[in-house]
Amino acid sequence: MVDLRTIVRQVESLQERIGEFYEELGALKLAMRDLIEENQKLSLENAHLRERAHMYIEEQPAVAGEAAKYLGKLYEDGFHICNVNYGSLRQGDCLFCLQNLQRTS
Ligand SMILES: [Zn+2]
Repeated sequence: MVDLRTIVRQVESLQERIGEFYEELGALKLAMRDLIEENQKLSLENAHLRERAHMYIEEQPAVAGEAAKYLGKLYEDGFHICNVNYGSLRQGDCLFCLQNLQRTS
């Protein structure tokens, strides 16, 4: 025969755990929202920076040598400098980037 008080205690304990679970879930949702916001902010910032870097290179032919140096360094640091993937992280050599480097140097 099952003791009724034992069942009541188990139900209460389960209820408590569900409450804690919900609290944790709520905190996780908040943290996730913060991360999504931060990510959107950084993406926007990154897009602006890329745009500005492009403008800088295109609008100042007088400092073409400097721009070429900048591009070379950017490539060495592991980023694409080609139109296809400009500004994103590079894995290994990229033919488009190398063409770009040859053209500017
Ligand atoms: Zn590239």
